[in-house]
Amino acid sequence: MGPEISDDDPEAIDYGRWLFTQPCDFVIGCASLSQVPETSLPEIAFAGRSNVGKSSLINALVGQNALARTSNTPGRTQQVNFFELGKRLMMADLPGYGYAKAPKDLVRQWTGLVNSYLKGRVQLRRTCVLIDARHGLKESDEVIMSMLDKAAQPYQIVLTKADKIKDSALQKLIETTQTAIAKHVASHPVIMPTSSRKGLGITELRASLAAFARPLE
Ligand code: GDP
Repeated sequence: MGPEISDDDPEAIDYGRWLFTQPCDFVIGCASLSQVPETSLPEIAFAGRSNVGKSSLINALVGQNALARTSNTPGRTQQVNFFELGKRLMMADLPGYGYAKAPKDLVRQWTGLVNSYLKGRVQLRRTCVLIDARHGLKESDEVIMSMLDKAAQPYQIVLTKADKIKDSALQKLIETTQTAIAKHVASHPVIMPTSSRKGLGITELRASLAAFARPLE
């Protein structure tokens, strides 16, 4: 399942901090698998419902304001956006899901694109499934978690907008989410609370994701 990371390991924290200050460049936006970049770099992916705070989180991780943008609005072409970090780690921003009024065609397109990506991407090491701390797991999150299980792609839950709820509610949400994901075979048990707005959990998430990067020579 990849390296085990301790959030309070000072070396991991330092490496994460260093890696995420390296240049991060947009590589390509892919609407179909044929366009997905061929690369041997280890990859991490980000998935989540539309409006979960995915762009904000990616921007917070790399310390840039406008790298990832919310562009996956209904009706627009859905894409997987690739970013290369410090020539050591590829980051794939998967199209958002869970629009209440999404037309069937759009859902089909999303499912086809994401499924083919998950099934074919051998260098993918970890997917972060982002969950809005105010809402918890929704049915559409269960859908992507099942897709990840079936594709045998390991993933972890990252809670977003943790600043929006009280600490006690956050603790409770972590516990109920842990119970809910236990039945998912490819899920990692550690649930990370974050707030892009307040900078909460960003250092820890950087450290955990940096562990998948191509090692320094
Ligand atoms: P995306 O559609 O998943 O890429 O979501 P965005 O990053 O565009 O964020 C959606 C909305 O949530 C925006 O209005 C953001 O300002 C807000 N948002 C994102 N992250 C946070 C956070 O950590 N705390 C709070 N309070 N709001 C956030």
